[in-house]
Amino acid sequence: MRKPTFGSRTGGVKSMKCKNCNADVHNVDEKTVSVTCWKCVAKSINPHSLIISDMSGEELARFFKKQRQKDGRSEN
Ligand SMILES: [Zn+2]
Repeated sequence: MRKPTFGSRTGGVKSMKCKNCNADVHNVDEKTVSVTCWKCVAKSINPHSLIISDMSGEELARFFKKQRQKDGRSEN
């Protein structure tokens, strides 16, 4: 018997569909209203890149974090 992992068990995060390609995006902050998956984010940053497939999600997450800090924009 398997229980779905939905619910408030983890708290603070949820799963959403990417607004661009409709892929499932997990561990989204529960306050997030729209989400873009890492693939679409990568595409938007560098549409011509073929390196994307060679990068792990973790690597990309680190990369984007850095980009955000450099950018210095707040979410609001
Ligand atoms: Zn996507």
